[in-house]
Amino acid sequence: MIEDIARKIIFDIKPYVPGKPIEEVERELGIKDVIKMASNENPFGPSPRALEAMREALHKISMYPDGNCFYLKDMLAEMLFVEPDNLVVGNGSDEILKLLAEAFLDPGDEIVIAQPSFSEYEFVGKIMGANCVFVPLKDFTHDLESMGRAVTEKTKIVFICNPNNPTGTIVTKAETDDFLKQLDPRVLVVFDEAYYEYVEDEDYPQSLDYVGEGQNVIVLRTFSKIYGLAGQRIGYGIAKPDIISALHRVREPFNVNLLAQVAALAAVEDQEHLEKSIQGNREGKDFLFSWFEKKGINYVPTQANFIFLQVGVDSQEVFQEMMKLGVIVRTGDIFGHPDFIRITVGTMQENRRFTECLEKVLRNQKAKL
Ligand SMILES: *Cc1c(COP(=O)(O)O)cnc(C)c1O
Repeated sequence: MIEDIARKIIFDIKPYVPGKPIEEVERELGIKDVIKMASNENPFGPSPRALEAMREALHKISMYPDGNCFYLKDMLAEMLFVEPDNLVVGNGSDEILKLLAEAFLDPGDEIVIAQPSFSEYEFVGKIMGANCVFVPLKDFTHDLESMGRAVTEKTKIVFICNPNNPTGTIVTKAETDDFLKQLDPRVLVVFDEAYYEYVEDEDYPQSLDYVGEGQNVIVLRTFSKIYGLAGQRIGYGIAKPDIISALHRVREPFNVNLLAQVAALAAVEDQEHLEKSIQGNREGKDFLFSWFEKKGINYVPTQANFIFLQVGVDSQEVFQEMMKLGVIVRTGDIFGHPDFIRITVGTMQENRRFTECLEKVLRNQKAKL
């Protein structure tokens, strides 16, 4: 029996529920022209400069990549006003979460996580045998006061997803200042800022300042969201050098592939693509918000490129019916809100199609009640 030889702990891990891939839906339902508004990818795609850089580098892939990500770290250091030894690059920021768990968590240690939030925190913690302490959101936002109270002498890491996935809300600088002030300085705080570039709220904390002050903080960012490189798998962390070197000890030597490094390097220089993506997201948000208001649909105002909204009926049904119309969304049941869905802001064409389909689906669902 595999159960007798595998680590007991792995049977306690809930499998990750990914957004359904377009090809899978087209294959299963025999339909075409499916759009995915489920995984917060950039609907405007990657930077054309990143594509060109990858094309030019293709012939190099018989060689191992630079395990140090020298040029990318150099560029990021310049952009962020830090040193290269403040940086670790990963196979997505998912990998950096795993490195954090491997480097810092022993069985029986505690980690504090908001609920609902990004499921990877629980995943990486459980693999290492840590105990997850969940603190419910308050008004769809991290409740940092309660999270602070949940910290014990066993706590090693607190995860702050800012903006929070799936709600899109942020905690403010005043809140994170207070939280860090009262926190035991031994506890490591992870600021997961996968949607950093989208945030417009002026009260958003500049968490790199905490790194600069030498606090026990690591900031995570990624090329998967606004940079449109989710398929390339590349993200990075910023922290003081001793935290970074602990992560390097558990990192695979060639964790970031060659094309990902090349693409990321070109992408950070493409300010135009970044601006266009921010602008497109803003336009989409405005359109969707006003449509929800017109239709009396509750939604959580987002600082990111996705929206958590209350469809008011079973989200699994909405998911299935939307899928038949060729629109992939994310159900809220996995986040403990069975009558919510999470959608990614799309192109204006996608947003319009989404509203037309949702209107149809909700009309049919309500007729059934
Ligand atoms: C998408 C996402 C990530 C992971 O991004 P990768 O860099 O693709 O691994 C991390 N955190 C949050 C909150 C996300 O939504």
